[in-house]
Amino acid sequence: MSLRVYNTLTGKKEELVPREEGKIGMYVCGPTVYNYIHIGNARCYVSFDVIRRYLRYKGYKVIYIQNITDIDDKIINRAREENTTAEEISRKCTRAYLEDMESLGVEPIDVQPKATGHIPEMLGMIEKLIQKGYAYVVDGDVFFEVTKFEDYGKLSHRTLEEMRAGERVEIDPRKRHPMDFALWKKAKPCEPSWPSPWGDGRPGWHIECSAMSLKYLGMGFDIHAGGQDLIFPHHENEIAQSEAYAGAKPFVRYWLHNGFLSIEKEKMAKSLGNVILVREILERKYNPNALRLLFLEHHYRSPIDFTLDRLSESTEAFERLENLLGDIDDALEVCSVSSTSQIETGEDVSRIVSETRAKFKEAMDDDFNTAAALAVLFELAKEAHILLQNFKANPTAEARDLLIEIGKIFFELGKVLGLEFGLSIIQESKIKLPRTQELLKLLPEKMVSDLFDLYFELSQGPDTKETRARLKEDFTKILNTILDVRKRARERKDWKTADNIRERLNGMGIEVRDVDTPRGYKWKFSFQRVIDIYERSR
Ligand SMILES: [Zn+2]
Repeated sequence: MSLRVYNTLTGKKEELVPREEGKIGMYVCGPTVYNYIHIGNARCYVSFDVIRRYLRYKGYKVIYIQNITDIDDKIINRAREENTTAEEISRKCTRAYLEDMESLGVEPIDVQPKATGHIPEMLGMIEKLIQKGYAYVVDGDVFFEVTKFEDYGKLSHRTLEEMRAGERVEIDPRKRHPMDFALWKKAKPCEPSWPSPWGDGRPGWHIECSAMSLKYLGMGFDIHAGGQDLIFPHHENEIAQSEAYAGAKPFVRYWLHNGFLSIEKEKMAKSLGNVILVREILERKYNPNALRLLFLEHHYRSPIDFTLDRLSESTEAFERLENLLGDIDDALEVCSVSSTSQIETGEDVSRIVSETRAKFKEAMDDDFNTAAALAVLFELAKEAHILLQNFKANPTAEARDLLIEIGKIFFELGKVLGLEFGLSIIQESKIKLPRTQELLKLLPEKMVSDLFDLYFELSQGPDTKETRARLKEDFTKILNTILDVRKRARERKDWKTADNIRERLNGMGIEVRDVDTPRGYKWKFSFQRVIDIYERSR
């Protein structure tokens, strides 16, 4: 089914047709690093993280770019307040921002360009805009002349007159039109500056994003995204200067904007003293998954009114899901399936799985409707709960297989939404988990290769390309063998070997728990942890 996205430029939902088949270039406006990020910023970054995850799930090769604005009035002012340099403030805040993104489970950004690292590109663009007659120099400042760009206002769907009526700022008499905006700002004393043909100065904010997105993605790239507050003037100006510079259009095929986040029905603002930082939420020990769930319970374009009560509700909802999966895990371990009830009903199992997956995709294909996608998961949870009770009363092979499949679908679709369920998959040598090949395909290559290394070390079997290829089909067998070696080590009280194996597995994101079961071991596997270990550390 085709994916439809709401394009701010056309004001319509359209089929997503990439510039190049199978590939998506995506640019999201990043933070101005002068403070810790707040939950309004977080909503934007989480929304587009999920959109990227879903595009990858659909099979697109996505290049995801998010810039860092590390030169701005706000940074300079903050440095003055703290009696330090702008560089120091932006360095400190960039680090904090990256930590917060990681805590929120936002996957690493592919390219994270800094504005100050791209001054020559910006100067090149400004020079060409002057040459082409779109920009003019006044006393060391360079302005873009909006009346020279015919399409000005096409993103915000407003005419210049309408924009002027909405502007309340004092008009700079040096500008040819009140809506003209700065491409280059003349240096003020004691401010960071760079040399330019028009004297020392620094770039305007809008030109930064044009220069960086064009450098890494080129004209006509697929998705440019950000908060609704960026539509005007930031994104409107980006279009004007980029299309004027390139002499071509479009600069971007699809413009996506996330809705506002208010706090108890009020706009979040420093002046109102109601800004909530991501750090504050995490310091109060709220589960980051709960914050993510709260965001995703709303369509990304809809407004969110944030309250701590709502966050508590999302925390409970998330814990209910997690507990259900834990209960399934425990039941699969404790209840042994009676051999007489071995009925082959594979069809039913695959029906539930494929229906859930289809409904989930249908929701996400409709402009990334995460609220509807979550409803599919909650509906499945309801069914799983009933099934679990039945299974405990009468543990049939059919119910067991279905519960395993349900666990796996939560794992698969939860990952698309970036929700970490801490999902366990019961390890039982008698049960061969169906389709574990799929699991291996989802894991980072390096983790699979580490796992193989440990396996061959312990099994002392021939380590060849062929055996590796064959074993790839059987995650369970690899784990079984490793854990059997560990179990035998424990039996002969060789704690060193046993602990060493546990530590190595732990280093791959597989947690081994020594619990009192007839089999003596159980392992827990968290996809998020594996990603943490293998992808975030790169
Ligand atoms: Zn931007």
